[in-house]
Amino acid sequence: MGEITVRRALESSQNIPFVEMMEQITPKKAISYLEKMGITSLTDEDESLALALGGLQNGVTPLEMASAYATIANDGIYIEPTFYSSIVDSRGRTVMNSNQEKRTVFSEQVAYVLKKLLQQPVDGTYGTATYCAIPGIDVAAKTGTTDENYDKWLCGFTPYYTAVAWFGFDQNETIKYNSQNPAGIMWANVMRSIHDGFSGARFYQPSRIVTAEICEDTGKIARTGCTNTYIEYFLQGTEPSQCTKHSGSRVKAREDNEKEEENIIYTDDNNDLELNPDEEEETNTEVQNGNNVTNENIQNENTQNEDIQNEVGVPPAQNNTVANDTLPENDVVDENEIIDSPENDGNEEINNTPTGDGQIDEEAGNNEENGTEMVESEEY
Ligand SMILES: [Zn+2]
Repeated sequence: MGEITVRRALESSQNIPFVEMMEQITPKKAISYLEKMGITSLTDEDESLALALGGLQNGVTPLEMASAYATIANDGIYIEPTFYSSIVDSRGRTVMNSNQEKRTVFSEQVAYVLKKLLQQPVDGTYGTATYCAIPGIDVAAKTGTTDENYDKWLCGFTPYYTAVAWFGFDQNETIKYNSQNPAGIMWANVMRSIHDGFSGARFYQPSRIVTAEICEDTGKIARTGCTNTYIEYFLQGTEPSQCTKHSGSRVKAREDNEKEEENIIYTDDNNDLELNPDEEEETNTEVQNGNNVTNENIQNENTQNEDIQNEVGVPPAQNNTVANDTLPENDVVDENEIIDSPENDGNEEINNTPTGDGQIDEEAGNNEENGTEMVESEEY
């Protein structure tokens, strides 16, 4: 694709620009950040340029991936994931607090620039995660794919929640799917549903962030002679110099007009995206029926959770992972209902049991045996 900006490379999930960036940053430095963001499964062999694409010896668990993305969402502060916030006895006395470890990994300015870049796969014309958009609420999201389509990922966050979805088999096997990343579909359906009734929200812009009009062709500050321009966000003092390909005086950055949407309340239409297995059209009728049932179930769920959702009007100071969100009493009741349902087989019962021991997640994301390599040129 020739010369390309980070924003455009991220939007369409290109590989080469990130390998080149890794060369500049060095894998050693990248690993030190990954570890500070809670990734514990890296090996000496991961100290290679393939790291830029997620080509890892042992893979990463979805839980650790969520903690790493939550570090960006939480303005550069890593917060150790937990499955509970506190335990109280029958008299309301606290028996145990979760005491999550916290540490600053990078500045809120760096986090903000990352957030704005990670919106591109959702908001960009050629974005690989456009179906993850939630109207009125900023969404940052990144897709991931491994060789042979063994693994599909969607990692992302809003000002309210961070969530990570992984889709694949315990033993590496090619995933059959039709057009859209199944992990992304799960992510979008769950995130839309849990944001139902939430106020419009934008990522908070800290001080010492500057915006600049950028020439698409050179990635430098636009002059009046540049025809293709867009707004980019920089840490103060890191803006590029002026375009060397076109002439004219420096173009002042436009104001972005996103602020107007802040007063709206997002209402989920319960129109879930469907997981599209690669199958023949004759199953259409069945899918339609199944869809109606699903929508009804979701509506019931929403009614039960209404009071929790209505309490939340503004983004929390601390972005939560979805794992944390299984704690409210109503949700636990929902989980039990699922477990008691005779329609579920044994495996699903285990997956839905809120034991919170992390074992299932660890096994699910682990490619230990075959060490798959990331290849992201194809997406969705
Ligand atoms: Zn130019």
